[in-house]
Amino acid sequence: MGVKERLEQGIIRVPGGTILVAKLADLMAWARKSSMWSLTFGLSCCAIEMMATAASRYDLDRFGMFFRATPRQADVMIVAGWVSVKMAPFIKRLYEQMPEPKYVIAMGGCASAGGPYRDSITIVKGVDQFVPVDVYVYGCPPRPENLILGILKLQERIREEHRAEKNGLPRPVREPIIIPETGATG
Ligand code: SF4
Repeated sequence: MGVKERLEQGIIRVPGGTILVAKLADLMAWARKSSMWSLTFGLSCCAIEMMATAASRYDLDRFGMFFRATPRQADVMIVAGWVSVKMAPFIKRLYEQMPEPKYVIAMGGCASAGGPYRDSITIVKGVDQFVPVDVYVYGCPPRPENLILGILKLQERIREEHRAEKNGLPRPVREPIIIPETGATG
């Protein structure tokens, strides 16, 4: 039984309202999955698609995603765009300031592997050179739907981690999630 079903079992209707009785661990797992706050690292063209994902048409808020401008309150970092060699240490420092558990999404070919600038000596060949990446969303740029798919897959992973934690099992190994490029871009 999932966290959602267990939480629903604890709903008690009372005159004039509702009471929810649940284990703190279940509430925390539900909140962790359903309110991923994102530290945005919009560095170049992919950032426009990331912003479009948050705007009214794709409405990222409905998945509990909010952009935060501080690493201290962020659960996930979305790196959107190419990363210069000079910028990399600052991204790493901000990642280290995020509280655990924390996740990273590399959005676009540049953040995933250097993209069209792969041969440049000033561009890092993927953010996984200096931070662990959980989700690679390919494309140049990826469509908002693909970023959303990556976020939903990441939410599934958080659910699995909680299930393992609850059953006293070790956390599953974090295999990278790959969202391939699909359809027309832009
Ligand atoms: S993957 Fe393409 S769209 Fe995204 S930052 Fe690189 S060049 Fe720009």
